[in-house]
Amino acid sequence: MTGPLVVAIDGPSGVGKSTVGRELARRLGIPYLDTGAMYRAVGLLAERSGVTLPIADPDRVVALASGADVRVTGMAGDARTYLDGEDVSAEIRRPSISLYASAVSAIPGVRRQLASFQRRLALSGGGVLEGRDIGTKVVPETPAKFFLDASLEVRARRRNLELDAKGRPEPYEKVRGEMEARDLADSTRSDSPLRCDESYVRVDTSNLTPGEVVERCLAALLSLGRASEEAG
Ligand code: C5P
Repeated sequence: MTGPLVVAIDGPSGVGKSTVGRELARRLGIPYLDTGAMYRAVGLLAERSGVTLPIADPDRVVALASGADVRVTGMAGDARTYLDGEDVSAEIRRPSISLYASAVSAIPGVRRQLASFQRRLALSGGGVLEGRDIGTKVVPETPAKFFLDASLEVRARRRNLELDAKGRPEPYEKVRGEMEARDLADSTRSDSPLRCDESYVRVDTSNLTPGEVVERCLAALLSLGRASEEAG
């Protein structure tokens, strides 16, 4: 692939994609795009517009999304998400918005809009893109693809600690249950399901710190670079 460096990071919820993606982007000096934040913004819009779950009228959500201005700005350290000019960075992290994001992300018309925007951004300036379908749909041609994984228990425990640290504690069973439901929905939907194939470097993060995951990704990028130099 010629053009700017595009690094795809995919994987289930709570696996540390954002922490790793941000640090990787910082170390590489390239932009960072949290694509989940865009689905969350559309989910928030649906919730605010009175759409209830499960979504009965997907066309209405597609229309809402096409009339909305969803932007993710800034570099890794200060990324913000805007919905029609309003900074919704904090609000989109509410647990109910996770469920809305997962529901709206199963609608093909919503995916088409967001994925084409993400692809244009990636091809114009490069970057670390983090989500569920970056290596399968958004920029499948990039050789730099990482699939981060960890058991449901490990991920739920991490998310639990994160929520405690933010002063928004939630019972472990609830966090685990919601995560499991979201993983199932994300990996079984018909349009762009979450899946790892042989084109990815799979990293099991269960026993690794975020810093160790970053180092592994950097080492893999270096050897990918060497391999393509040798091939060229
Ligand atoms: O990554 P995050 O948990 O913030 O994403 C919220 C939801 O958005 C996911 O559960 C998934 O349903 C959806 N998503 C997606 N494709 C992406 C990124 C996120 O379907 N590239």
